[in-house]
Order: sequence, then C-alpha cells, then structure tokens
Amino acid sequence: MFDPKQVAAFAQTFRGELIGPSDAGYEDARKLYNGMIDKRPGLIARCVDVADVIAAVHFGRDSGHLVAIRGGGHNGPGLGSCDDGLVIDLSRLKGVRVDPVARTVRVEPGCTQGDVEHAAAAFGLAVPAGIVSTTGVAGLTLGGGTGYLTRAYGLTIDNLIEADVVLADGRFVTASEKENSDLFWALRGGGGNFGVVTSFLFRAHPVASVYAGPIFWDLKDAKKVMQTYRDLIANASPELGLFVGLKTVPPTDPFPREHWGKKAAALIGAYNGSADNGIAAMKPFRDALPAPLFDWMSEMPFTSMQSLFDPFFPKGLQWYWKGDYVKELPDGAIDAHIASIAKAPSNLCLMHLYPIDAAVHRVGAADTAWATRDARWSMVIAAVDSDPKNAGELKKWGRAYWQAVHPFNLGGAYVNFMMDDENEGRIQASYGANYPRLAEIKRKYDPSNLFRVNQNIAPAA
Ligand SMILES: Cc1cc2nc3c(=O)[nH]c(=O)nc-3n(C[C@H](O)[C@H](O)[C@H](O)COP(=O)(O)OP(=O)(O)OC[C@H]3O[C@@H](n4cnc5c(N)ncnc54)[C@H](O)[C@@H]3O)c2cc1C
Repeated sequence: MFDPKQVAAFAQTFRGELIGPSDAGYEDARKLYNGMIDKRPGLIARCVDVADVIAAVHFGRDSGHLVAIRGGGHNGPGLGSCDDGLVIDLSRLKGVRVDPVARTVRVEPGCTQGDVEHAAAAFGLAVPAGIVSTTGVAGLTLGGGTGYLTRAYGLTIDNLIEADVVLADGRFVTASEKENSDLFWALRGGGGNFGVVTSFLFRAHPVASVYAGPIFWDLKDAKKVMQTYRDLIANASPELGLFVGLKTVPPTDPFPREHWGKKAAALIGAYNGSADNGIAAMKPFRDALPAPLFDWMSEMPFTSMQSLFDPFFPKGLQWYWKGDYVKELPDGAIDAHIASIAKAPSNLCLMHLYPIDAAVHRVGAADTAWATRDARWSMVIAAVDSDPKNAGELKKWGRAYWQAVHPFNLGGAYVNFMMDDENEGRIQASYGANYPRLAEIKRKYDPSNLFRVNQNIAPAA
C-alpha cells in the first residue's frame, strides 16, 4: 500500500493521471495484452510528459515500492506491470515526428508499431520492427526487434540513432554513439534495465508497396517446407523478409472452409519492392515445393501487411511463450517440431522461426548488447488460446515443445520471447560474452536495481 500522504505530495508534481485500486478506471488501466497475467499495481502513474516520468521515478524510488515501466503492455510475462508497486505508464506519450529529408523518425514510448507505421508511410518510409501492429515500440526496441525488414536493414536496434532516458536517480540524459555511449550500447538489447526511455530516434528506409502474405501447406508437406526454407533463405535477396511457421489454418473466413482447422506449415513474408521482383525472389521456394493449400502472396501496402494478423490476436488472449536462438536446423530438429505442433492444444498455437542473417550478421556481436549475431533464426513457440481454463494445458504444451527442440538450439533466446520462469543462467546465455559488460553498465546507471521488473540484469557486485 502506498502512503496516501506521499501520493498526495506526488500528485502535486504530476500532470497526468494517477489511478489507484479504488478508482473507477483501475480495472481497465491495469489490464495487459496477455490475459494470462493478472497483476494488481498499487498505483498507475499515466504520464503525459517527460517531467511526469521524472516525478514518477523519484516517487517510485523514494517510496521503496517495486517500479514497472509500461510501454505498449504487450510483453509476454507482463513485465510492463507489477503487483502492489508503481507502474510508470507511458501509453499516452504517442508523438511521432518524421523527418523525410534526413529519413529519421522520432518516436515517443507509448507508440505502437501501427502508430509509427502510419506516420512514416505518409512519406514512403518505415522503421524495421515486428510483425503485429499492436505491439509496443518501446519494449520491442529495447529487446532487439525482428520483423520483415530485418534481413535488409537489421534489427530495430540497428536502426536506433539515439534515445532520451530518465535514469534511476531522476537525471535526464541522451544516449547515442557520441553521448553516454556505454548506455546507448546497453539499451540496444538490454531491455528496460537502464532507465525509462522517453524518446527514440530511428533511421527509416524507403518502403511503400510490398509483395507479401502467407502461403500454407498441409502438415504432411511440413518437413519439405522447413528443409527448403532452411536451405534457401540464406541466399535469398535480403529484401525478402520471410519466416517459416507451424500452425493451424484458422477455422474462419476468409480461409478456405475445406482447410479449416488443418495443421499446416507456412511461409510468411514481405518482399520490399515490386511484385515482379518479389515473385522472382520467391521462385526458388515455389519451384522446390509441392502445391500449397493456398498461396496468398500479393502486392499490398506495407501497412496492410503489418496489420494482417492483428484480428487473430486481440488483446486478452492467453499466451505462454518460449524462445531459443537457432544456429542449425537438422532434420532431427524438424521432426521434433512437426511432432510437437501436431499435439497443439489450441488452433492459435504456433511456432515461428524468424531469420537472423544478412544485415543482422553485418553488425558485430560486441557492437550492441544484443549478442547472438551468429544465430540463423530466432525461434518462438507461442501457446495461445482464448479460454483461461486452458492456461495449464498451454503451459504444459509450450514447455514440452521447447524441451523437444532445445537440444538442437543455442543456449539463449530473444528476451522478448521469454516468460518470467526462466532462470538467471538463461538470461546470461542470451547475452553471452556481453553479459559482464551489461552488469557493469547496470551498476553505473542503476546500482540499486530500481528497474528490475524486466528480464533482469543484476548490477555487477
Ligand atoms: C502479438 C505479438 C507479436 C509480437 N511480434 C514480435 C515481432 O514480430 N518481433 C519482435 O521483436 N517482438 C515481437 N513481439 C514481442 C515484443 O517485442 C514484446 O512483447 C515487447 O515486450 C513488447 O513491448 P511493449 O512496449 O508492448 O511491452 P511492455 O509490456 O510495455 O514492456 C515490456 C518491457 O519493456 C520495458 N519497457 C517498456 N517501455 C519502456 C521504456 N520506455 N523504457 C524502458 N523500458 C521499457 C518494460 O520494463 C518491460 O520490461 C510480439 C509480441 C506480441 C504479443
């Protein structure tokens, strides 16, 4: 419980909204994207400007309570919130400013990808980010950020030019290659460990129309689909952002009724360029593979592709996440994947392998905190369903799937594809040789580990 007198004093310094458990908007304000997570913060400080963020950091620290930072609220284990403590809620900080000449985009931390994509598309530009438009830019960026533009332009962090940060002691600093470069290094993959980011400046790229969409094959062809993808993707044009997935044909329009509910393998991607060039880039894949259940790749605006899957994943579904970085995909691993997806307890469960190659491999492992530049894929297993009663089954399946394939994979995983039931060794494995440096930088900028509601990096002893 927060001391009402301290809250009243805090309110004097705060312009946004303070929402406590007895306030009318509390139930709505505390809800996260993942319906499996049910956290009850002691106070939600919905900031409207940087001054509010500074005031909230001082209040949270001095109160001795847990402090969580909420960007888009999409995080799997709900690390944008906490029980009993203070949530610094940035969801009203929605400014986006595109500089079409310099080809940069300045983004406030409450923006979703959709907010940024909409603003940038007006100038024929895009910032590399993820594949679902409702995801928060802040948490995605601080973890790394993979999506359709990654092969051509790198991770989201590889396109970060600078960030404004409120530190644990309340100081406001800018981090870039030139200023506070150690902090800038750590922010690029180190998550919310180092402070509250109040502004991101990104490099943007010319993206307008893409040749994009999904192609689905019956599960009986899944081995061939995964082998073909494994063998061809490294040599495919970097303009082709293509991932392979195992999933179920959604039992709903517009999917062909005769395929509803079938387990399937899918290639899903976007080619940044003309339809002719996209068709040419996809030709080796199509030539090597049998007839699909359906092939819906076509020309569309990039923003349409980015929101294509939004309707299938509304807020409030149950999600259980497991991830791994993957360097090799031997036939034995492919068999384990196919056997596991066949046992999925719900139609929404999925496995995706996102490519980590091309532009990502051109950045050195020690150049940013995000270390695993030699991986070839980032794997996600997402156990998803609408029914809270299935939460136990989802966890059971997700863990069993991961245990079956993990022996083929690297030790660490993308921190944004993990729940909070991984051990500390897993976080260290995810940062590899960069972990000791991250721990040193954590000690410098947040020695008391105020910002610990995250995939935590403990300050060096
Ligand atoms: C449907 C769906 C699709 C996804 N697709 C992709 C994808 O294609 N590619 C990809 O890379 N990831 C993807 N993700 C994972 C996504 O990157 C994470 O869920 C990420 O945490 C979301 O960020 P957020 O701001 O919404 O999260 P939040 O829950 O708000 O925060 C997540 C973490 O980031 C920290 N944080 C948030 N904002 C700030 C800030 N301003 N300053 C400091 N720390 C902050 C918080 O402390 C917390 O630890 C997807 C997630 C979902 C649910």
